[in-house]
Amino acid sequence: MSLKKAKTICKLQGISFNLEVVILCPYCGNKSMRLIIRENTAECYRCNKKQSIDDILEITKSDWSEKHKKYEKLMRFNRGVDY
Ligand SMILES: [Zn+2]
Repeated sequence: MSLKKAKTICKLQGISFNLEVVILCPYCGNKSMRLIIRENTAECYRCNKKQSIDDILEITKSDWSEKHKKYEKLMRFNRGVDY
């Protein structure tokens, strides 16, 4: 279903369109964090963390680069090792 169709349904039914996306919670690691785009809020229903989407974006970015660094180190460490 396209987003446009969903918006049209909401419009016809007279309810406000509220797009919600479920992502991995950076705090508890469960796929239980909802991004409430209209309110610029992220809310986890498992650990009850509530933050702005901007904060979650920053946390996710730094988590990603942490992970990336780890793999980079691993690759460097394994260089020249026979399998
Ligand atoms: Zn959580």
